[in-house]
Amino acid sequence: MGEYAKQITKRIRHVGLKEGFCLICGIYGKLSQDHVPPSSCVTIQRVEQRLVTEMLGPEAKKFAGIKARNGSSFRTICEECNNKLGRCDGVVSEAYKKLTKHALSYYRSIDSFGVLASAPINPIVYARSLIGHMLAATSDQECLRAPEHSEYYDPLKRFVLGDDSALDETHDIYYWYYPKNIHISAKSVIVRNRGHQTTVSVLSFFPVAFMVTLKGQGIYPAQAVKLSFSDKSLIINLSSTNLPFVDFPFVPLSGDQFYMLYDAQAIVSYPTGR
Ligand SMILES: [Zn+2]
Repeated sequence: MGEYAKQITKRIRHVGLKEGFCLICGIYGKLSQDHVPPSSCVTIQRVEQRLVTEMLGPEAKKFAGIKARNGSSFRTICEECNNKLGRCDGVVSEAYKKLTKHALSYYRSIDSFGVLASAPINPIVYARSLIGHMLAATSDQECLRAPEHSEYYDPLKRFVLGDDSALDETHDIYYWYYPKNIHISAKSVIVRNRGHQTTVSVLSFFPVAFMVTLKGQGIYPAQAVKLSFSDKSLIINLSSTNLPFVDFPFVPLSGDQFYMLYDAQAIVSYPTGR
């Protein structure tokens, strides 16, 4: 099928807003462009954005993505919140550079590099950056409505705005090795397992997948490690054991397992190299 015959991604209906309610602080005003993944964490290049649902199944080739020259971005937060995230991003990029270096050496079979890669981290600053970008990486139509009370999102917003203990009683954070160069962000995914269900949000870009759930729900991929705010480092297992589950939703979906999501809130971006 030629490019001309493709249907443009539905993502096109969820970009272009200039003003709205910031998805972090909730203040109405001019919206600024947030790069997700953060600019400092990836090589800025030409990318395409599509919805996760347009990457699955036999119709996947039918959709053309939204093209961008300078990386994947979302205009859903105010400039002040954007700057706040920018001040945290360095912690993520430093850690991911170390993990990436280790992963490359491991794949090149340099003997001194084992299957576990680690990087020192300030876990609060790290989580603040990723949760902020996770809140931002979505449909701009969310900015049209004034924020309403949400058991799931209110503590996340407070945490990003500077309350270090906002998640202590409400949320768990998990992470694991993510070996692909496709970025995935998905908010408010309902995941069901063994008769129990919960809400999760995910932000994945090489080399780590990062997930936030409501506290104590016990639903997370088998390969996940729980992030504690007393951790001194991120540790990822580069083993190929988990390779069958590197794609969204990162679990086998056997038995009664399933997930539900609103398609506009689950987005991928990938380099096009053109
Ligand atoms: Zn804001």
